[in-house]
Amino acid sequence: MDNLFSIVFQHLPNPTLIIASDRTITYANTAAKSVFDSIFIGKDLALTLRHPEVLNAVDRSIADGTSEEGEFSIPGPLSLVFELHTVPIPDTQSPGSGLSFVLLSLLDKTKIARAEEMRADFVANASHELRSPLTAILGFIETLQGPASNDATARVRFLGIMDREAERMNRLIDDLLRLSRVEIDEHVRPRGQVDVIACIRNVFELLEPRAKAKNMSLTLIADHHPGPINGDSDQLIQVFRNLIENAVHYGDEGTEVRVVVEERIDRPNIPENGIAVHVQDKGRGIAKQHIPRLTERFYRVDGARTRHNSSASISTGLGLAIVKHIVNRHRGRLKIESEVNSGSTFSVFLPTE
Ligand code: ADP
Repeated sequence: MDNLFSIVFQHLPNPTLIIASDRTITYANTAAKSVFDSIFIGKDLALTLRHPEVLNAVDRSIADGTSEEGEFSIPGPLSLVFELHTVPIPDTQSPGSGLSFVLLSLLDKTKIARAEEMRADFVANASHELRSPLTAILGFIETLQGPASNDATARVRFLGIMDREAERMNRLIDDLLRLSRVEIDEHVRPRGQVDVIACIRNVFELLEPRAKAKNMSLTLIADHHPGPINGDSDQLIQVFRNLIENAVHYGDEGTEVRVVVEERIDRPNIPENGIAVHVQDKGRGIAKQHIPRLTERFYRVDGARTRHNSSASISTGLGLAIVKHIVNRHRGRLKIESEVNSGSTFSVFLPTE
């Protein structure tokens, strides 16, 4: 191969192979070598890539001189998805003598395929989550129109349940919209200046009635008032709100929810100039195996049960997903520590610059 061409070929970002008219591999570039464990140069392509989709495309290109396209996947622990393109290259040395090579180039579509899968999962989950309260409401309407049409006691009870289910749908839609807004600007750095203590006080005011209803107290502990940090104050209020709301919701009656604010943290992997906010509750806690999954959308520790008890209307399984995205946008970190039947600490680390 001509030297310049060889260098260019080696540096092409897509895995690319040159196949001779007898289907043997003549050249493979660096990207191709990084995808396949071994490439057998000078041997039939089937020894390296046994996928029928690829072999058929190359065979057709060789036989008919056509360009082919297709898709195939390589199974494994992390299955890879590729788009394939073949281009027949005529023999320029002796025109008219027919085909000399087929260029086989691959496009790694694994990430796109995964994103599509996630999007489809998300739509399915969101529809399912909205369908459950809707089905309940429709069921009660039917009962009120039929068998219970003259039953005043049932009417009051059913309307109460319908109200709660409708509220649940409302909250789901609010959270879904919030999540999508947060995801849209996740890669845009926030520009405002935020007083973290003021944000927490703001959330305390909002949640005080709910805490009182469970005979709980909200306590803020900070040895001094840290300076402002770069951030989006509405979003940071949302983070503290979701965490403190959970602490009140999952904390035991009559206990204290503590929010501890620390400035300058000197621990590994934590930005040195930063603020840490720890939201601590005393309650049911969370079993270890659930912790890594809590920030997934719609993940609830005991989803089915929570959905049917009286607190159903406030649980969407989206709160911590929203927290994670906002914290990422602020280049921060979320850490969850918990002990079953003892309580949990959700810590947010935010860099000051
Ligand atoms: P939601 O609270 O709306 O269900 P979240 O995303 O905020 O959704 O929380 C996901 C799950 O994590 C909750 O359903 C609950 O099982 C668990 N969880 C969150 N915070 C706490 C907490 N402070 N104590 C115990 N469990 C919690």
